[in-house]
Amino acid sequence: MHHFQYRDGVLHAEDVSIPSIAEAVGTPFYCYSTATLTRHYRVFTDALEGLDTLVCFSAKANGNLAVLRLLGDLGAGCDVVSGGELKRALAAGIRAEKIVFSGVGKTTEELTLALENGVGQINVESEPELNRLNGIATELGKTAPIALRVNPDVDAATHDKISTGRKEDKFGVAWDDAPRLYATAESMPGIEVRGVAVHIGSQITDLAPFETAFTKVAGLVGDLRETGIDIRTVDLGGGLGVPYKRDNAAPPSPAEYGDVVRRTVGDLGCKILLEPGRVIAANAGVLVTKVIYVKPGETKEFVIVDAAMNDLIRPAMYDAHHDVLPVSEPDAGAPKKKMDIVGPVCETGDRFTRDAIMCALNEEDLIAFSTAGAYGAVMASTYNARPLVPEVMVNGESFAVIRKRPAVEDLWALESLPDWMADDTQG
Ligand SMILES: *Cc1c(COP(=O)(O)O)cnc(C)c1O
Repeated sequence: MHHFQYRDGVLHAEDVSIPSIAEAVGTPFYCYSTATLTRHYRVFTDALEGLDTLVCFSAKANGNLAVLRLLGDLGAGCDVVSGGELKRALAAGIRAEKIVFSGVGKTTEELTLALENGVGQINVESEPELNRLNGIATELGKTAPIALRVNPDVDAATHDKISTGRKEDKFGVAWDDAPRLYATAESMPGIEVRGVAVHIGSQITDLAPFETAFTKVAGLVGDLRETGIDIRTVDLGGGLGVPYKRDNAAPPSPAEYGDVVRRTVGDLGCKILLEPGRVIAANAGVLVTKVIYVKPGETKEFVIVDAAMNDLIRPAMYDAHHDVLPVSEPDAGAPKKKMDIVGPVCETGDRFTRDAIMCALNEEDLIAFSTAGAYGAVMASTYNARPLVPEVMVNGESFAVIRKRPAVEDLWALESLPDWMADDTQG
């Protein structure tokens, strides 16, 4: 459920009309709903009612400070995958002990940052990382609270690029090697073994891979405890999918997911960490864009909009679908046309929809790509010298710009000419 609905034929975000935001900030822009973010967080935590949990929102899905602060105020911690995200989460006011640091390639600088700030848990993904962390912690006179991220060799049956729990994927330590590495970790002076972590992928629409992975984790916790290693946390990662298409079969609900958590790891006596990203944020955001031209083609129209693949890369990168909502609600009987909605970037992949059958669009019309609140703004680039688009947060009748549109000159503010080039601009 989300709070982007039509009122009197005009798309609104909560109580604010989308055209009024477009008027104020220009297009394109991302727009997030406070009510939807809140609702999704609550639905997710309600599904885990009665369990000892910490929900660490995955900052890589949407790292805007206002989004992190909102979720933090609701009680969320944060899952971060870089030193930058760690600083972001701290800047948003998330307490260090509620931060989990994941990622396959944490540098010495990043691990040091994590230890100096006292993050709650570092999910170690390899033996070299374990050695590195032990060395750093010992030098700093600290002990690093860790889980090993294990690779359960489970195929999450999602898009290849976001499947992370198969043995050929780069993530986690090999399943069979885990007991040996736990024993090693246990013996290290700079390491405090806390838990077991998994994360098998993203946009997972079937509960079976979760059930398999969590069951394996529960087995491992038992095995490790038998060898005297005190496992107090299990971290189940993120990955629950969301509906991108209105008419598609809905993915499992958080309640069904919660049941899987309960029956697989609910009785271990462990604190259960979860790292949802997409399921909280995706349907809480839209990308609003304006039609620049409607270009007739031989077999279909090309609707050229002012947003492009650099602003929302999911269609180009994952063949992802985002439902298109015309901001002025079309009449029920309005004639439909076949069209591609494309951006201005010089790449054929810069296409949001292909062969969509939709009501005709005209120059200056606003449309919204739905389900753009996760892996949207965070993955944007400035390709084609296009400044990042603003992010707006709506709350009831109010809205605020939570990241402003930079000046185009900011794109080259950090660039300089080498001193052997003449000062004057023309050779
Ligand atoms: C990406 C990621 C998540 C979040 O995944 P979603 O599919 O957005 O829920 C959680 N944990 C880790 C380690 C990740 O890399």
